[in-house]
Amino acid sequence: MRSIVAMCCFCEKVRDDTGTEPGGGLWQDFKFYMGTHMLRPEEVMFSHTYCPGCLSHYRDFLTSPKGATKGPGIEKRP
Ligand SMILES: [Zn+2]
Repeated sequence: MRSIVAMCCFCEKVRDDTGTEPGGGLWQDFKFYMGTHMLRPEEVMFSHTYCPGCLSHYRDFLTSPKGATKGPGIEKRP
């Protein structure tokens, strides 16, 4: 049976929910996590999400779809 591990899309840290309620675990380095739990890559499935650090860093980017789709200079075209 595969484990489902939450991984940050930006920094690729994973969340270790072992012994905590889901979502309450500590974020740590992917290789450290795999070593600690003696897992091989084929034994885990990743659920992509954002760690708290990246979420706050990229919050403006993530919450402004208009800003992401509106390219520069479009409204100034003659
Ligand atoms: Zn992150």
